[in-house]
Order: sequence, then C-alpha cells, then structure tokens
Amino acid sequence: MRALVFEEFGGPLTVQQVPDPAPAPDGVVVEVGASGVCRSDWHAWSGHDPDVVLPHVPGHELAGTVAAVGDRVRGWSVGDRVTVPFVCACGTCPPCRDGDGQVCLRQTQPGFTHWGSFAQYVALDAADVNLVALPEDMSFPVAAALGCRFATAFRAVTGVGRAAPGEWVAVVGCGGVGLSAVQVAVGVGARVVAVDPSPGARELAVAMGAEHVLASTGGVVELTGGGAHVALDCLGSPATCEASIRSLRPRGRHVQVGLLPPAQGRAAVPMELVVARELAVLGSHGMAAQDYPAMLSMITAGRLRPQDLVTRELPLTEAGPALVDVGRISGVTVLTSF
Ligand SMILES: [Zn+2]
Ligand SMILES: [Zn+2]
Repeated sequence: MRALVFEEFGGPLTVQQVPDPAPAPDGVVVEVGASGVCRSDWHAWSGHDPDVVLPHVPGHELAGTVAAVGDRVRGWSVGDRVTVPFVCACGTCPPCRDGDGQVCLRQTQPGFTHWGSFAQYVALDAADVNLVALPEDMSFPVAAALGCRFATAFRAVTGVGRAAPGEWVAVVGCGGVGLSAVQVAVGVGARVVAVDPSPGARELAVAMGAEHVLASTGGVVELTGGGAHVALDCLGSPATCEASIRSLRPRGRHVQVGLLPPAQGRAAVPMELVVARELAVLGSHGMAAQDYPAMLSMITAGRLRPQDLVTRELPLTEAGPALVDVGRISGVTVLTSF
C-alpha cells in the first residue's frame, strides 16, 4: 500500500510503498476513505509522543470501509462504513468496565502506538469495542473529523465542562478542536467567546456561532460580566492553559483539551486562583465509541454541522506539507484520496 512515512522526528515526510497491514484476531483492517490532518499528528512527527516508534506512519482521524476482519470479531463485516475514536479501548480494563474507554489503561492509538491512516489501509484493534457505524448520509471527509477533534470537543463541552444553556463558554485557541468546541457550545445553548490571535480563525469562529471573538483572553472577564462559566484550552500551551484559567468566574470550570507535551514546557497553573475562586481544573481526552450516539443524533438532526469545519481536501501526496503547516492553516484539512 501507499503510506506517508517519516524515518526521523522532524525529518522528511515521503509517500512510500509499504506492506499492507493484517488484522489482529480481535481487529479489522479499514480501507481509508478520509483522514484528517491534526495537530496531534504534528506532535507525533515532532517527537513529542513517547509511543511513536520509527519509521512511522501518522494519521488517527479516519473513516473508511472495513476491508478485512479478524477471527474473533463478531459485530463487523467487510464493506461496513465506519469510524473510530482516536483512543481505541481494550474493553476489559477497569476504566473500560466503568464505561470510560477514553482513558483505557491498555489503549491503542492509530498513528501513535502503531501505524496510522495516512495510508491506503489501517489496522484497528478491538473492533467490537471501538468501531462506530456511520450514518448512511455521512461522507467520509465529514466522519474523519469526528474521531478526534469533533468528538473530543463534544465531550469536553458537554460531558466534562457540562456547559449549560445561557452559560458563557470561552474557547481559547480556534484550530480544528476549538472551532468544533465553539459549534458544540452554541449547539447546547451556551454563549461563546472565542479567542485566537489569527484573524482567519476568528472569522471561522464567528461562522460557527461565536457571539464574541478576541485576539487574546484579556477582554473575556469584562465581556462575560465577571468571567466565563467554562473555559477550554483547545490549543495546548502553557500560555493558553493559564489564560483559560484566568478567564473564569468564581466556581468556573477549566477544561484542558489541547495536549501539553512536557517537551514544550510545563504549564504554570495559578493554583492561588483555583483555591480562592474554587475553580475546577479538568482534563478531557477524546470520547469512547459508546458515547457517540448522542453526538451522531445531534448531527443527524442538523443541530451540529461537522461538515462546516472541513475547509480543505487534499490527496495523500500533499499530506507532508499539510502536516508541517498544520498550525498555520485555519480550519480542518482532510486527506481524501490515497
Ligand atoms: Zn481498557
Ligand atoms: Zn486529532
């Protein structure tokens, strides 16, 4: 198969012929129909993820068609149209048994723990636990955005941040996950202040329904009459983490969504504010397959429109430059031919 390969961290990204994957006994191989280009792929390429072994194929936001099925898989057949959470759960460890596969102790992640979906085919483990059937009318490019950024934003806003109608939600960083968070927060009836230094990102945030957009968090407290009820750091940097926490009102909830690899420096959390204002500091890490139905039903009902996030479709041959530029291009890029 063809795949985008890197052989050193930060090194050249080239499309190469590599062996086709085979399914694990409990897994499947999916013929990739679309694969989103995400900041997490950039982290993998940059050497920020200790799970990545070289040479490596990135890509974790995928949708496609089941092409091969392991002997022990019960619920899936060749030809099924599917997507997966970027965290593939084992289904049997204590968090999985509690319904929290997004923090599975034995999780696998395509594009990190093994080769990913910037390729014609990708292997996925524990298919009966992780595969999600696509609604008939949902295209692969739209579905590809769900597995990481949209599902992550959905759970961060609704499940972890518990944003309620009429509450103020500050979204700090309006890349793919931030724009998804804006859309989800608006979708559940919250009022949104979106923050990003890029004018293009702010324009997209307005299109997703943000009531206010700002270049920095400086004005959030004033605009929201005392601070946001929920603030999300959707970029993942020491500066945006701290700014998100400082933009909260008393008893507000900070949700850390963007990854904060220690290689980029550890965030200085202002714990004096956490105590004095009784703030909650929460982490959100994807969303398990079993939690998809609530999101999919809002999409099918037209209350959420992940299709509006896809701003660019590219072939695999252009995946390398797209990955290098991921932080510099507004909106969501999806690979759609392999
Ligand atoms: Zn598990
Ligand atoms: Zn992602």
